[in-house]
Amino acid sequence: MLNAVKQSWLTFKSIFTGMGVTIRHFFGPSVTLRYPEERMELPKGARARLFVNIDDCIGCNLCARACPVNCIDIETVAATKDVDLGKTSTGNPKRFWLTRFDIDMAKCMYCDLCVHPCPTNCIYMVPEYEYSEYDRSNLVYHFSNLEPEMVAEVKEKAEQEAEQKKREREEMMRKKAEEKAKKELEEKKKADEEATKNEKENGGE
Ligand code: SF4
Ligand code: SF4
Repeated sequence: MLNAVKQSWLTFKSIFTGMGVTIRHFFGPSVTLRYPEERMELPKGARARLFVNIDDCIGCNLCARACPVNCIDIETVAATKDVDLGKTSTGNPKRFWLTRFDIDMAKCMYCDLCVHPCPTNCIYMVPEYEYSEYDRSNLVYHFSNLEPEMVAEVKEKAEQEAEQKKREREEMMRKKAEEKAKKELEEKKKADEEATKNEKENGGE
């Protein structure tokens, strides 16, 4: 009998304790958000998603080299002599076309190591965290703004210029070799003449 009374007391006590907590929170301020209508503001410096301001990128590759998981893939093509790519907003001259600048956010581990070496501060985290995808390939973000035709064109021009430079270098080397051979021949001829002259002089004595 005593045990039953004790059990009943404990039951009512736990019910009133639980209801007390519920009632306290019912009248207190709300701590939940009505997502997606309401969104939590990310704290300053939060690492959520990478963004590249491609207009300020100089193609130095420092971010890609700093990445421990190789999720940044950059391809650059040197601008030909007839093209001026201008400068970044930080005043750095741009010398390369960025024919590819991809970041695979499915591989990214949000370490932020790519952000710090950037000389123009053009790669950084943005407070964007709603980017789930059914297909992982959609998590590869393409930042290059060049159309495929433009990529093909700049590559072709760069190849032609490289070929031209190679030809000029070869021509220069050939000329140098010719001049060297000519000089050696002249020196040899001079030495032979000198030797003949000495022989004649010695023979005359
Ligand atoms: S945050 Fe880290 S893992 Fe992600 S791209 Fe940058 S360096 Fe690579
Ligand atoms: S470090 Fe900055 S400037 Fe250099 S390639 Fe990366 S994003 Fe571009």
